Amino acid sequence: MLRTHKISEVEKKLAGKKVKLVGWVDSLRDLKSMVFIVLRDRYGKVQCILPKNSKGLEDVEKLTLESCISIEGEVKERPKGQENKAMGKQGEVEIKASKLDIFSSAKKLPLDPKTAGEDIRLKYRYLDIRMNEPLRKNLEMRHKIIQYIRDYLNEEDFLEIQTPLLTKSSPEGCRDFIVPSRIHKGLFYALPQSPQQYKQLLMVAGIDRYFQIAPCMRDEDARAHRSPGEFYQLDLEMSFVHQEDILNIIEDMFVKMIKKLLPDKKLTFEKFPRLSYDEVMKKYKTDKPDLRKNKKDPNELAFAWIIDFPLFEEELSKEGNYAPMHHMFTMPKEEDLKYLNKKDAHKAKSYQHDLVLNGFEVGGGSIRIHNPEVQSKIFELIGFNDKQREYFAHMLEAFELGPPPHGGIAPGIDRLIMVLLGEPSLREVMAFPKNKEAKDLTLGAPDIVFKDQLDEVGLKFKDKGKK
Ligand code: ASP
Repeated sequence: MLRTHKISEVEKKLAGKKVKLVGWVDSLRDLKSMVFIVLRDRYGKVQCILPKNSKGLEDVEKLTLESCISIEGEVKERPKGQENKAMGKQGEVEIKASKLDIFSSAKKLPLDPKTAGEDIRLKYRYLDIRMNEPLRKNLEMRHKIIQYIRDYLNEEDFLEIQTPLLTKSSPEGCRDFIVPSRIHKGLFYALPQSPQQYKQLLMVAGIDRYFQIAPCMRDEDARAHRSPGEFYQLDLEMSFVHQEDILNIIEDMFVKMIKKLLPDKKLTFEKFPRLSYDEVMKKYKTDKPDLRKNKKDPNELAFAWIIDFPLFEEELSKEGNYAPMHHMFTMPKEEDLKYLNKKDAHKAKSYQHDLVLNGFEVGGGSIRIHNPEVQSKIFELIGFNDKQREYFAHMLEAFELGPPPHGGIAPGIDRLIMVLLGEPSLREVMAFPKNKEAKDLTLGAPDIVFKDQLDEVGLKFKDKGKK
């Protein structure tokens, strides 16, 4: 290792000891006979004193802000009264350097992270993450939350299974991102909007508890609190369950996770209320009510389940067809199967469940249909023609090969963490988010591609494509 300690480990009890630290120059003061720097790594910051004209410190005058360096030196306790409280335990010590190595120098910085606008922060995201501790802390908490979820579900016999990223475009939901196939010219893959069909097929496959931290890609414009293009879901599916079983496991996992990882947060309800769609629409005029008792308290978290949704949206399409409220695999309530006809379908309720938190929808799911006749009926009410039906032939066929009763949910990871951490934007909990115009400013995507690449997949664009 190029270091003996992380900076967060350097404290009074090491006084008199030699340490070797690595990191970046956070600040720099050049006095006549010495240079003071604050050295920063992922874990903390500490002040270092580098006397000029000393053996081992020949490069001291070449130091610039954000250069990546290593410093060897002795830990000294700071004289009484000269501690830096803001630096915690590291504020009680400083390093008297005896050796400096510059791994790499940084040129003049292109941004001041304290004042920089968002696009420039996104362009230099690696500097933003390096220099901006709250952002780094958010990424750390995101890691811990995902780790907690994995451990919890593993204990509960869930299998984490990766499903394809190159899949099939389908005529439902949102707009797909499509990917031209080189091997099969003229044909296209689509990036998954969610692993919905695969996770249901995994249930047919007998994997009775599945989850995945799944990337979901949807070609939608940016909306408030929805990242354009892509986001992550905790995608989960279970066989042989009632709706209550799904709600209980998610609720137990989140309550325990919050108590362990976010102990300052206060849960308004330890048992999340189950509220019917009709009830909340009447009372709050929204299906994502904010149920906090004190909306000014940044630490209050009010979760609730919304259930008993209508199976279909109220408005019919121009062609007079129904649109599913959740998605077309959602099971109608048994007592409402009688309404599955053109005239009455709006009366049918379903086994959809949404999880809301402080006025945000942070997850949705349902018990699924596992009966091919009911599924066929839904396709008919949605107005699928034969071609559209063809798209789902594999699902209908699987439903004729012994599907178990099943259901699931998919909490949105980014949005959940944003609300849990009280951040105003999804971008504060993602490492490399797209900007509001759906651009990746760090790498500069989307971009044109070489003409050869277009030729290979058999595509032609007017005036586009690099020569
Ligand atoms: N796939 C659904 C969604 O993305 C969630 C679910 O039904 O499990 O909203």
